[in-house]
Amino acid sequence: MKQIKITLCGMFTIAITLLTFIMFENTANAVEIKSDQGPYVYIPENYFSHKVNDADIQHYQAICDHVQYYLQHPDEVITDPATRNELGATTMSQHIESLYKGRSAYGFATDGSVEVTHSKSKADIVKFIQDRYSDAYSLTMIRMNGGLNINGFNPDGSSTGPIHFTNVTMNSMVKPSDITVYDGTNSPSAHKAITIAFTHWSRIPYFNFRFVDNPAEARIIISGFDKDTKPEQGTEGLFVPLTYCYTEIQGHIYIKPELLHRDWRYASLDHVIMHEMGHALGRVDLYN
Ligand SMILES: [Zn+2]
Repeated sequence: MKQIKITLCGMFTIAITLLTFIMFENTANAVEIKSDQGPYVYIPENYFSHKVNDADIQHYQAICDHVQYYLQHPDEVITDPATRNELGATTMSQHIESLYKGRSAYGFATDGSVEVTHSKSKADIVKFIQDRYSDAYSLTMIRMNGGLNINGFNPDGSSTGPIHFTNVTMNSMVKPSDITVYDGTNSPSAHKAITIAFTHWSRIPYFNFRFVDNPAEARIIISGFDKDTKPEQGTEGLFVPLTYCYTEIQGHIYIKPELLHRDWRYASLDHVIMHEMGHALGRVDLYN
């Protein structure tokens, strides 16, 4: 699972880097990138803040080398500051122990690439660390959010681990200072509820919203349910994100059609849109 994601991420990143920095240089074109989940998404070129360069990869290559060494010497004190900082531990044993403890609290490894469930053993965790630190380029891309500008933002979960939605893991989101929203509900009530949600969530520094007319330009798309969509537990909406290198690049909010044409003051519509918008901004359900 993890290997596939990383390989995809790496492959498409090469394509994007070419597109961004050769073909589309000095143009206002959007860049088409393939999300970790498969679908392609257009991202404005100015949403990319840096390109991964050789020095970055060398930095993470050195960390990979150190990690592989310390896996063989788990109780030796890690002297390299970058590696210590990367692992958040002073020895490899300590790092393994912390992932081992974290697996039941969050159900996932803290770096978001693989599930470490209750049943995972320490040997599985060691294997996971070996894999994670075997490909410096992929690691660099993940740590640098695929070159996307995240305005220094990490969602709520970042202090305790990444955010998980079904099969999607998010560590951050692209350009929260400019969240483009497409309202595909065709419902004045829903539109009103969306503007109220904008006002609510804009109180948090980082977030600015604006409507766009084209869903391809939107970071958040809001619509009624597709025929096969099922609402999430406890509410009448659903949030489905797409990520790139674990960075949210687009999220789709689905609202039950029967809610859409009720007055926005009807608690459910207002509340469901607020709730799902919260997920789009990296908020988790409290019952998680
Ligand atoms: Zn929810």
